[in-house]
Amino acid sequence: MKSNKVIQFIIAIAGLLLITFGASQYQAVENNDGSLHLWILDIGQGDSILIDTPEHQQILVDGGRGSAVLSELSKTLPLTDKEIDLVISTHDDADHMGGLNEVLKHYKVDKIWLTGAVGTTKTYLTFLSLIAEKHIPTEKIMAGSKISFGSLQGIVISPLQNYDGITPESQNATSVVMFWQYGSETFLLTGDAETPQEQEMIARGVLRHANILKVSHHGSHTASSEEFLKIVNPEITAISVGKGNSYGHPHQEILDRLKNLNIPVLRTDQDGAVRFDITLNSYSYKTGL
Ligand SMILES: [Zn+2]
Repeated sequence: MKSNKVIQFIIAIAGLLLITFGASQYQAVENNDGSLHLWILDIGQGDSILIDTPEHQQILVDGGRGSAVLSELSKTLPLTDKEIDLVISTHDDADHMGGLNEVLKHYKVDKIWLTGAVGTTKTYLTFLSLIAEKHIPTEKIMAGSKISFGSLQGIVISPLQNYDGITPESQNATSVVMFWQYGSETFLLTGDAETPQEQEMIARGVLRHANILKVSHHGSHTASSEEFLKIVNPEITAISVGKGNSYGHPHQEILDRLKNLNIPVLRTDQDGAVRFDITLNSYSYKTGL
């Protein structure tokens, strides 16, 4: 009996070793460092943000303009991975939605989140026809919409009104603003939301602190009010902006405001793509990728 127990013990240890060895092999093959990657992609003037979870689920928030997003995605995702779990379109402007059309043509997209605000551009009409052609399920979202991918949880905090079927005066005003939490780490993605939306979020008490902030509207002075920045109180910010853009983004006023609040800034026009590596209780970042 005694020797049988010893043998059982040895078998159990061997099994554990096999599981551990197997797991590490799997990680090596999948090129997985175990952290969630938050990419602020370098797509020129516009926004395209990729969230890549340790479980290889991908969420793409906007696609920039044109096809730059495709080369960025080919650098960030394994060549064999041509599937994106969720695409979130923050609003209908071409510097956010244009590249999504390229993504829909070249990737299998499982689901699309959008507000349903009606656009008037050719880009918007192409987006709708691609969704129909490829039978991609869509969900109309507004403040309160929630989603989770393993330990990652996201909640929409703006727009506070339902824009489904409505042609808005300002597309920026319909921007999807999302608060994301992964363990104790948090990040806020803002689309091109402007000061009136910031004030609305503050008035409704839905705005809160986030470790990382994607600065709204490419650093335009129409967003990022001091009150907004003080409530979010980010440890670090990233601005998605094109080199020498005709809007003068990011505006000096916003850079000064961030500096005065001692908030560091990363910029895609100067730093290239930015990748935040987020674990359940810490984060770091790399630039120039
Ligand atoms: Zn924009």
